[in-house]
This record gives sequence, structure tokens and C-alpha cells, in this order.
Amino acid sequence: MDTRMLIGPDFVAGTETAEVILNPRTEATILELPEASPDQIDQAVTAAETAFSHWSRTTPAERSILLLRLADRIEREAEGFAALEALNCGKPRHAVLADEIPAIVDCFRFFAGAARCMHGAVAGEYLAGHTSMIRRDPVGVVASIAPWNYPLMMAAWKLAPALAGGNTVVIKPSEQTPLTMLKLAGIIAEIFPEGVVNVVVGRGETVGQRLIDHPKVAMVSLTGDIATGKKVLTAAARSVKRTHLELGGKAPVIVFDDADLAAVVEGVKIFGYYNAGQDCTAACRIYAGPKIYDKLVADLSGAVKTLNFGQDDDSLNDIGPLISARQRARVSSFVERASELEHIEITTGGRQAAGNGFFYEPTVVAGARQDDEIVRREVFGPVVSVTRFSDVDDAVNWANDSDYGLASSVWSKDISTAMATAARLRYGCTWVNCHFMLANEMPHGGVKQSGYGKDMSMYALEDYTTVRHVMVKTGL
Ligand code: NAD
Repeated sequence: MDTRMLIGPDFVAGTETAEVILNPRTEATILELPEASPDQIDQAVTAAETAFSHWSRTTPAERSILLLRLADRIEREAEGFAALEALNCGKPRHAVLADEIPAIVDCFRFFAGAARCMHGAVAGEYLAGHTSMIRRDPVGVVASIAPWNYPLMMAAWKLAPALAGGNTVVIKPSEQTPLTMLKLAGIIAEIFPEGVVNVVVGRGETVGQRLIDHPKVAMVSLTGDIATGKKVLTAAARSVKRTHLELGGKAPVIVFDDADLAAVVEGVKIFGYYNAGQDCTAACRIYAGPKIYDKLVADLSGAVKTLNFGQDDDSLNDIGPLISARQRARVSSFVERASELEHIEITTGGRQAAGNGFFYEPTVVAGARQDDEIVRREVFGPVVSVTRFSDVDDAVNWANDSDYGLASSVWSKDISTAMATAARLRYGCTWVNCHFMLANEMPHGGVKQSGYGKDMSMYALEDYTTVRHVMVKTGL
């Protein structure tokens, strides 16, 4: 495949240090990819700036048609995208095909429609003799910086609202997982005018940093770590850029004694471990009521043991490996430190898997307490902690006692209990009797250090546009 970057109309190879792109399932090198030079980054931003003067004045209908074409092409090439994402991330190919690609296609289709349906305040004479109207205009050149856990989906979440809103984009995929974005670049170049989307590759501290510092970049959209979010804010403060930050998570899962235990176990088995737990909304921090706790730990541990991974026949795998040896070592060290605590019991997993690939056994950490590191810090691996609560106020306070505020869930057959608890949680999303269900019409984004700004939904389109007031003196 063509792995060159897209800068204006040109496909060009980076000229700086090469990053080794690995297959996390086998640890084999897929290829080496040189990163963009400072000059190439500047050219990409300049191409986006030049394209902005035309693209920002296209009609929503014109932008919509191109977004729909892009959606159709991704749908037609679903197999190719899924194979590439599986190769570069180690995800089971069937999971990418069934879960991710349809959502990605739908994301572009949603924003194709949303671009044509924006609402606003009514034009009128709010000052006698003057007519006011509200405009929603694009922000300018957006630097979009994506993480490694869902490379193509994060690209879609960033590109679709930005383009629908009339912005131009320079996007940088993660240095570890650039392949699907580079394939997408080839399709984008066939559909969109030159410079509307530019793709550069490379590391965060070099290519990413130059992008977020760039004086011609009007907005930075990052999905990544809290520490990276803080760097974006520091850079943005120097030049007063708009920022859109989707940072980490540590999702609490409050399970009341009256919850449907089988549904909880099935839900956490899937959504605590999906993508090997490398998911900012992963159901990773359970608070279980006193009567359901023992059975939940036993049943969940039994269910998690049955998760399939590392099979040669990928169609049998439920989850893949971690993204890198470094990430696996990080996950390992969290579990090791937890297992040294007397009150903790590792009821299943707790080890690196044998053989090739960065696999880690799906793990349940029972008996965890609120102050334990495993409860407080984002592990970003296939590890779920379970903590017993006896009082609903404790459960809510512990759930909220976190720097993170992205996703949460509440499980109870009593809808009043569930709704009252949901109302008290300080999270961007609370699911009731389910977890990790997304819809492009609904917003995804955090509060507290999980960041701000919404992906998906009309709220994202608002984030990627700016409100302007135009007032005309009529004298009448
Ligand atoms: P990361 O912050 O290390 O990297 C994310 C991106 O930022 C990469 O493209 C990286 O190259 C870039 N980057 C790093 N340093 C930079 C700098 N100084 N300037 C500019 N760009 C820089 O995160 P990751 O390890 O790729 O992803 C995992 C993290 O992302 C986790 O914390 C996870 O929770 C979070 N995440 C959040 C969401 C969400 O929607 N909230 C979704 C997915 C992942």
C-alpha cells in the first residue's frame, strides 16, 4: 500500500527519523515510516490555510455530498480497512468489520446530514433600528491528533465534524498506528479539493508539537492522554487557540444488589475487555453492592476466563493484544503492585500471556479499595477491579472521587434507583443497564480531566464552528 503522507495535492514520504510500525499480534515489523520534517508540516498547514478560503465558502450541501461519497467508499472498502486495522492494532478483524467500520461510515453520513441542519437564534430587531443575526462559521485550520486505540474511528470523529463545519484539517495519526489513516488519505485525495485534508505522520513530541505550536493553526483537537492534553493547553495558551480535548477515563460501574447479575457479567465481560481494555470508556472499575458482590466476582471471573485471545485463527479471538511491549509492561506493573496488597485477590489472569504478541491475560482484581492505585489510575489494559460497597452514598462518592469524568454505568432493576444514581454522577455519559453503547446522534466527551468538547452529535458540529453576530443598522 501507499504509505506516503498527503500534503496539498501531493503524496510525499516523510524525510525524518523512521518509526518502526509493528504488528502487535506477532511483534513483527510491518514497515518503517519516516516522519514529517518541520518544513513538510509547515507545507501541510499552508495547504490547509490556502484551501480554507474556498472550502469555508462551500455550501453545506456541497460538503455533504463529498462526506457521503467518503462514507460510501469506506463502506465499499470495509474489508481492506478492517484487515489493515487488524494488522496494525492486533484487533480481531471480525470485530473491526462488525463494530467499527459501520460506526465510522455512519459518522460521516451523520455529519453529512448535520451540516445542513444547524439551528440558531432567530434573526430580529433586538435593538430598535438594527437587525441582528447569528452565523455559525468555521474556525479555520484544525490540527487533529489521534491516539492508537481506534485509529480510523478517531480519524472519523475528528474529520467528519471539522469538514462538515467548513474547516480544513491537518491530521496526525498516532505514530504507532498510522496505516488506516494513510489508506484513507488516498480516498480523500480523490474526493475532496486539494488541501482540505492533509495527513502528516510522526511522533508527538516532534510532529505533534510543531502542529499544536503552529501560528496558522486555529484549533487543536486531541484524543489522548491527560499529560498530552496539558501540553496542548500550554501550546494553545501561547497563541490563544481553540482546543477540543478527549482525554482518558476510568469508568465506574455501580452494580446494585437487585441488578440482573447475568446481564452485568455479560456486559462487563464484553465492555471491560473490548479492544483488550484499551478503551477510554472501558467498564474497568466496578462498585458492587454487599449482597451481589461475591457472586459477581465468581461469575465474572469465570466468564472472563472464557475470553479467547491469541488464537492463530483470528475468527476465534474475542480480544487482541496490547499495542506494544511498553504498554504490556505498564499493565503488568499495575497488576503486580495491586497483587502485593493483602486485601487484593487476582481471581483470574494477572500474567503476560506466553508466546509471541503483546498479549496480557484478561484479569479480575477483587477486593480492591477506593484508595488503591488500581482503582484510581487508568490502566488501559484488560484489567477490571471490583470493590464492595454497603451504602449507596459511598458508591456514588467513590465513583465521583476521580480525576476522570468520561463514562460510567449503573446497573439496577429499579429504574428509579438507577435514574437517581445517574443524576448524581459527574461523568460525560452514564449508561443504565448497559455500557459503551454509542450513537452518532449522541455526544461523547468528558468532564473534569477527561477533557471537554464533544465528539459525534450536533454538539461536535458546534465545537468545530464559531458563533458570530452580524448586526445591520436599518434605521427603521
Ligand atoms: P498519547 O497522548 O500518548 O498520544 C495521543 C496522540 O498525541 C498521538 O498521536 C501522539 O503522537 C500525540 N502526542 C503526544 N505528545 C504530543 C505533543 N507533545 N504534542 C502534540 N501531540 C502529541 O495517547 P495514546 O497513548 O495514543 O492514547 C491513549 C490515551 O488516549 C489514553 O489515555 C486514553 O484514555 C485516551 N483516549 C481517550 C479517548 C476519549 O474519547 N476520551 C479515546 C481514545 C483514547
